[in-house]
Amino acid sequence: MARQVLVVADLRGQEVRNVTLETLGGARRIAQGGRVSALLIGQGVQAAADVLAQYGAEQIYVVDAPEVAQYNPDAYLAAAVEAIAAAQPQVILLAHSAIGRDLAPLIAARYEAGQASDVIALDVDNGEVVYTRPIYAGKAFTKVKLSGELTVATVRPNNLAMPSASGETANVQSLSVAFPSDLRTVIREVVKKASTGVDLTEAKIIVSGGRGVKSAEGFAPLRELADVLGAALGASRGACDAGYCDYSMQVGQTGKVVTPDLYIACGISGAIQHLAGMSNSKVIVAINKDPEAPIFKVADYGIVGDLFDVVPALTEKLRTVLA
Ligand SMILES: Cc1cc2nc3c(=O)[nH]c(=O)nc-3n(C[C@H](O)[C@H](O)[C@H](O)COP(=O)(O)OP(=O)(O)OC[C@H]3O[C@@H](n4cnc5c(N)ncnc54)[C@H](O)[C@@H]3O)c2cc1C
Repeated sequence: MARQVLVVADLRGQEVRNVTLETLGGARRIAQGGRVSALLIGQGVQAAADVLAQYGAEQIYVVDAPEVAQYNPDAYLAAAVEAIAAAQPQVILLAHSAIGRDLAPLIAARYEAGQASDVIALDVDNGEVVYTRPIYAGKAFTKVKLSGELTVATVRPNNLAMPSASGETANVQSLSVAFPSDLRTVIREVVKKASTGVDLTEAKIIVSGGRGVKSAEGFAPLRELADVLGAALGASRGACDAGYCDYSMQVGQTGKVVTPDLYIACGISGAIQHLAGMSNSKVIVAINKDPEAPIFKVADYGIVGDLFDVVPALTEKLRTVLA
């Protein structure tokens, strides 16, 4: 059965994040010949429409206004409502990002639609969309079918296959939105956290440090390894709680959920709450001086040793190999 699918684009500044491109690929598959539309919300974001077209959006709705220059729940919901009226979708897909996680339930509640969160696969079975999502902190997966005329889902980055870009163009329509005059949330200032420049949730390689790094300075060898690999830097909550690094780096149940191609855990014991955020990584390397550390149970490759010996040696070797 052909269905209309609307993808709400997730942006980093003016740039479309990879998760949206991956979601467009998934949207095309479940649309089964129906139309795939995309919604761009922000200020000065028109240029991103080309990218969305190249990755499969046939119809693009743009809400370009100062009211949505920063994420604002009421204003973004108003923009989504306008796009939903125009696109008449049966399925709305968002990124499982900070914005998507906030906006998706607002849309679902507004339309009394069912919602599946943190989806890692999209399929069609007997004409119905099947959403696969983790349960029990990532220890198991469940396949969910939602009833109702409209369903909403958030998609985890780095899980759906990235479609290849084409030279396609799309029909682009600007929507004018009557924003509520009494926005309940007003963003006064955005303070950016220091970061390695590679987005943790979309990174293909992550080097992560735990309490075993022993200090903020202890992250230096990990940072060097990350630089050589073009990787993002992550951390356990143990390292964050100890003040060795910023909480924006935390991976796990109460941090970021990541699915890179390669996750290198250094001085991390492998508590269940940490595994919840990284155990679906494609290849896991663990460096720990305790051979009994639980992280080795999920690791594809384990190195028993002192991270302050192993990490610099690894960096040196990789620097030569990758040069
Ligand atoms: C509700 C709740 C939510 C939580 N959410 C999260 C979460 O999102 N993410 C998260 O990570 N944790 C979370 N935790 C905390 C979690 O339970 C662990 O306490 C935490 O993950 C431990 O961090 P760690 O592995 O860095 O530290 P530790 O458990 O102290 O492990 C340090 C490891 O480093 C090794 N080590 C020490 N020195 C060296 C060295 N020189 N070389 C090599 N190895 C060395 C040790 O052998 C040890 O295995 C949560 C806990 C609760 C209760």
